[in-house]
Amino acid sequence: MTITHIKHHIGGQQVSGRSERTQDVYNPATGQVTGRVALADDEDVAAAVAAAKAAFPAWADTPPIRRARIMNRFLNLLNQHKDALARAITAEHGKVFTDARGEVERGIDIVEFACGMPQLLKGDFTDQVSTGIDNWTLRQPLGVVAGVTPFNFPVMVPMWMFPVAIAAGNTFVLKPSPTDPTPSLMYAELMKEAGFPDGVFNVVHGDKVAVDALLQHPDVQAISFVGSTPIANYIYETGARHGKRVQALGGAKNHMLVMPDADLEKVVDALVGAAFGSAGERCMAISVATLVGDVGDRIMPMLAERAQNLVIKNGVEMDAEMGPVVTAAAHARITGYIEKGVAEGARLVVDGRGHKVEGHDDGFWLGGTLFDHVTPEMTIYREEIFGPVLSCIRVADFAEGVELINAHEFGNGVSLFTRDGNVAREFGRKIQVGMVGINVPIPVPMAWHGFGGWKKSLFGDMHAYGEEGVRFYTKQKSIMQRWPESISKGAEFAMPVSR
Ligand code: NAD
Repeated sequence: MTITHIKHHIGGQQVSGRSERTQDVYNPATGQVTGRVALADDEDVAAAVAAAKAAFPAWADTPPIRRARIMNRFLNLLNQHKDALARAITAEHGKVFTDARGEVERGIDIVEFACGMPQLLKGDFTDQVSTGIDNWTLRQPLGVVAGVTPFNFPVMVPMWMFPVAIAAGNTFVLKPSPTDPTPSLMYAELMKEAGFPDGVFNVVHGDKVAVDALLQHPDVQAISFVGSTPIANYIYETGARHGKRVQALGGAKNHMLVMPDADLEKVVDALVGAAFGSAGERCMAISVATLVGDVGDRIMPMLAERAQNLVIKNGVEMDAEMGPVVTAAAHARITGYIEKGVAEGARLVVDGRGHKVEGHDDGFWLGGTLFDHVTPEMTIYREEIFGPVLSCIRVADFAEGVELINAHEFGNGVSLFTRDGNVAREFGRKIQVGMVGINVPIPVPMAWHGFGGWKKSLFGDMHAYGEEGVRFYTKQKSIMQRWPESISKGAEFAMPVSR
């Protein structure tokens, strides 16, 4: 089998870079190495930042409507290449093709949103703040901005960032996950074809070395990060120390609270999809089912039956419900958590360890795993597992469920299943979590609403995309103006007031 050499995309060209370090890229369904990705050093990062810096003045000066028209051509190209992008995701991430296509579509939503940038950049104007004086605000781009992204959404998560940043007039350096790097080069080529000037969008592949170079580079004005909480915290602190704007989205432990009045068949559908879809490797996956009253006894046989019978195979098969996990290291980490759950006394109802898929002996397979009688002190409850493991925890009533969820250190997403409108309203108001679903298992906000968790799930104060995204990538300027006829004679030493 041929092994692809995966390069950087700098100043409109694919380049190998100076560093000779590389990392193997796998197809998780076969366990075979399919590519080798270049890992940038300081100089490679500096070259990407220099290309972005050189492109910035002309791009920032380009009228927003003309930038939006190029974004619109990119949107059309993305729609034409949706399936190719989805296949590339499946090949390196492992998620099933239909899920990968959904990911691409949710990324495209943000590109559509960014096409409306002229409206989003519109400022405020106040006529006559004082006699003959007007005051207005405008939003201007920051300069070179960077994005550092995780393996689990190689198309959608970078698109939370660069379409908004670029349409707002910034130039961009993306440092995607080296685990599944190929899709980033595909959309870099599509952006070139759409007509973005060289240097407006650059991709450098790499690991901590490249990220540190971006964090320390004086010409990088802002960093957006999505990944695990310890790294998000590190990016936030280090970026701020170097004077940058930072938004750093971290990990999660998302609960679904199930009330006794909920339709349990629909709850089971929602839970298996949200816990085992994408092999649980979504930051909005449900990893804890919080079962109120007698729900635990009623739902457990139904859940066990579904977890045991998931259709697990190579994601290229159209009937696959779940693919492999992403790497051998992820497989070992998740297996370790299952062992810990057993050792700490949780009841292992369905054990996904040792799952085999015919003809794919070396793939990174795990079956759906179900734990019951999990308690708040257990490691599998406290930590993010990021795999196909659903922990069930039983609570006496609604109040105990809310208290439990609010006490967790993560606050990314949460879901409530009930038929009672008062309970739903109370939940929405009291829950300490950034994204809430009422009878919706994975409430990822739409492109114009913005994405972000609370507590240890987000460092910084602005959410990704939506209007907060526009604010993150622009700075506000206020201009106050009068013309010579309105200038009164004489020096004024008192604080000027409206006259
Ligand atoms: P990760 O934190 O290991 O890596 C994320 C990025 O950081 C990658 O580009 C990686 O190369 C880089 N990186 C890794 N170690 C680094 C270090 N020591 N110093 C500097 N940079 C480093 O995350 P992952 O395993 O790729 O992705 C899974 C995690 O991402 C999960 O925790 C998941 O919850 C989280 N996630 C969160 C969201 C969200 O919106 N909150 C969305 C998707 C994923």
